[in-house]
Amino acid sequence: MNKPAELKLDTVPVWIGGKAVVPEGRMGEVFNPATGQVTKRVPFCGDEVIDAAAQAAAAALPEWRDASILRRARVMQRFLVLLQKHQGEIAALITQEHGKTLPDAMGSVQRGIEVVEFACGIPQLLKGEYSENVGTAVDTHTVRQPVGVCAGITPFNFPAMVPLWMFPMAIACGNTFILKPSEKVPSASIRMAELFKEAGLPDGVFNVVHGDKAAVDALLKHPLISAISFVGSTPIAKYIYETCAKQGKRVQALGGAKNHAVVLPDADLEFAADALIGAAYGSAGERCMAISAVVAVGGAADPLIALLKKKAQAIKIGPGDRDGVEMGPLVSAQHRDKVASFIAQGKKEGAKAVLDGSTPPMKEGYFLGTTLFDDVKPGMEIYKNEIFGPVLSVLRVKTLDEAIALVNSSPYANGTAIFTESGGAARRFENEVQVGMVGINVPIPVPVAFYSFGGWKNSLFGDLHVHGMEGVKFYTRTKVITTRWPHQDTPAAGLNMPTLG
Ligand code: NAD
Repeated sequence: MNKPAELKLDTVPVWIGGKAVVPEGRMGEVFNPATGQVTKRVPFCGDEVIDAAAQAAAAALPEWRDASILRRARVMQRFLVLLQKHQGEIAALITQEHGKTLPDAMGSVQRGIEVVEFACGIPQLLKGEYSENVGTAVDTHTVRQPVGVCAGITPFNFPAMVPLWMFPMAIACGNTFILKPSEKVPSASIRMAELFKEAGLPDGVFNVVHGDKAAVDALLKHPLISAISFVGSTPIAKYIYETCAKQGKRVQALGGAKNHAVVLPDADLEFAADALIGAAYGSAGERCMAISAVVAVGGAADPLIALLKKKAQAIKIGPGDRDGVEMGPLVSAQHRDKVASFIAQGKKEGAKAVLDGSTPPMKEGYFLGTTLFDDVKPGMEIYKNEIFGPVLSVLRVKTLDEAIALVNSSPYANGTAIFTESGGAARRFENEVQVGMVGINVPIPVPVAFYSFGGWKNSLFGDLHVHGMEGVKFYTRTKVITTRWPHQDTPAAGLNMPTLG
């Protein structure tokens, strides 16, 4: 690898019990994708370190779950202010390790910060229900209690936002948390742990560990951990779901995606093309809500492809920290090569390469150009697989019926969008499409923090989505309490099934 011998590399620590620690053992390398240089080392934790994190989280649980909701909310408010203050610094870490442009990284941190804003309202969100006189002089109420020690396992493409979908909600609900971010982008999580401590979070409530499958497996099997949130690729999401379910752990596992945008002939095509360019090539296509398949209906296809070609060609590619750059590199050499091999495969299987970005536009780093395929067919590998790179496929269909059927035949169902001026067509699409998040003239319909984020089918294993009220539900268990006080008018309980009418 490209590693200058004289360079002394920093090691990204783990964060356990409120302290940064560098454990001994296996180490991985962190790269700057814009240069291909190794910049840091990261520990690959095994059973022992995971156990230390679980013990720390379990020890902190009794006090934190019984801390007043107002105290928990105030810690969250201080964390919010610190995240806002250090947003630029966290975004810079993301650009260094992931490669996306600085403005894009800033936007992604902002979307994570919005979950913390939502979590500040936890006193309101945790209110239970109460019914007086469910029987004469008998009352019922519900409480939402924390689940216990929770863990989160996150992907490389949103080093701050995806962790922020999870741990602020879990912690505001009274749980303690262990985060295992992607080993490719470990630094933002450690910076957030430091800021959370500065905000007054007691030691042990939030812990960060690093590593690969060994660390994940140690989390999955640890008896002190009660709930797992996962975001990543579909095969791993399925594995996480099945492994946790077998052990009776609560689990939500969000997987990969292949998101379609349907463009009808009545759409404002200039507007649609601008939206699709951002949604397909932003963050080099490494977004789970990226549009990777355009379904062009009837006469929309030819003018739309001409517009997409012109706009995709004009995208400025370069290191993400350089002014004016719109698209950075892919995250790693392996991932760039995998995306390039899909482009080769697409050409082999007969798709028309309107733009071929497989030749790296610069010598250093993990860059690719923008690729646009026309005449893509549903049986092709470039359509069936999530490529997760700057590759946009256009499929041509004749009618809206055909378009909806195509979207619904995909095993993935994270996000989708329709571009049209017709309210009736949009209403039909919204009603019939079997996808978790839908945009009407909105290419990337990521819900705001007070709604919940999640797909259907192979894009989510589990029942509850992340953040919003579904996040509160995932990180709490409901208890229903029925109360009666001894009273001379209430009959004594007999041997028959009690009815309260
Ligand atoms: P990934 O599945 O390779 O890795 C995700 C996490 O799982 C990482 O922390 C990684 O260390 C761990 N992991 C990797 N291999 C493992 C194994 N064999 N056993 C146990 N753990 C393992 O995903 P990635 O490449 O980091 O991220 C890209 C993927 O994430 C894409 O498929 C993308 O669509 C998906 N994603 C989905 C969403 C969503 O909300 N649905 C959001 C972001 C990313």
